[in-house]
Amino acid sequence: MACLFCEIARGAIPAQIVYSSPEVTAFRDINPQAPTHILVIPNRHVTSIADLGATDADLLGRLFDVTNELARQEDLLQSGFRIVMNHGANGGQTVPHLHLHLIGGRAMTWPPG
Ligand code: 5GP
Ligand code: ZN
Repeated sequence: MACLFCEIARGAIPAQIVYSSPEVTAFRDINPQAPTHILVIPNRHVTSIADLGATDADLLGRLFDVTNELARQEDLLQSGFRIVMNHGANGGQTVPHLHLHLIGGRAMTWPPG
């Protein structure tokens, strides 16, 4: 079955791409929860964070490095931001392709609802 974020990564479904490399793609969330809401994904299909392990340390590092760089580009370093990864039903994951949410531009509450 076709995966929405695999399709976005290969350019078959349009998105507002803000970063792309052979391994990682980042694009704006279609339903933003804050002034900045970007999704950062591995181009290869990984269902969730629970599917990565020690041998994926390079990919995990790249995902966080891209997210950090985008936070800088979006001018969020001083005001603050949040990185979220949801897994499974209780975590609130709705798209079964690993993604980091980069959210910023407004104050957020804790704990999450
Ligand atoms: P999750 O709930 O799985 O952690 O996050 C999935 C995110 O993907 C949601 O924030 C949702 O708004 C976003 N999303 C779902 N479909 C699309 C789409 O077709 N394009 C984009 N850019 N974002 C999407
Ligand atoms: Zn996928």
